Amino acid sequence: MIIEILRGDITSLDADAIVNAANCTLLGGGGVDGAIHRAAGPELLECCRRIGPCPTGEARITPGFRLKAKWIIHTPGPVWHGGSRGEDDLLRSCYLNTLALAAGKGCRTVAFPCISTGVYGFPKERAAALVLRCLSSWAGPLPEKASICCFSEADEAVYRRQAEILEKKL
Ligand code: ADP
Repeated sequence: MIIEILRGDITSLDADAIVNAANCTLLGGGGVDGAIHRAAGPELLECCRRIGPCPTGEARITPGFRLKAKWIIHTPGPVWHGGSRGEDDLLRSCYLNTLALAAGKGCRTVAFPCISTGVYGFPKERAAALVLRCLSSWAGPLPEKASICCFSEADEAVYRRQAEILEKKL
């Protein structure tokens, strides 16, 4: 799978699926979750009401409604509590469960936000290293490409730095 790091607003991307860093209620919130609900329209909330709640680390899929993306995959990331409450495994599960759902719908391209590293407080460098390793380990034929959509220049720099470190190790 090709891994791409880009900067932008995930709601404007033309991927087969975009990923929402949701909370367990699936009823919307702040940050990227709020932006996705605003851009997709009220049909999204209606749909999420029927499929929620969703445990941390799992994922649920809905149509993209008014977005360019055909699908939205909602995955509640872990809240950071210092690292001893399974946060790493839960974050990895978010990405892997999302990829499995995307593959099941025939998605060739999936765009991820930086799950858990906003309000949920997961350390950014640690998350980036984990996510890059996790995406690199994906062996299925689909999706063909995973884009990491960073909202800030600083987040993009974190990912580029971690990608460099990993490439040296691999
Ligand atoms: P969490 O609660 O999982 O930490 P947040 O929404 O607080 O989720 O933050 C996750 C990431 O999403 C942060 O890096 C934040 O900068 C980013 N973000 C916020 N709005 C957007 C957007 N429109 N597109 C892409 N990323 C966004």
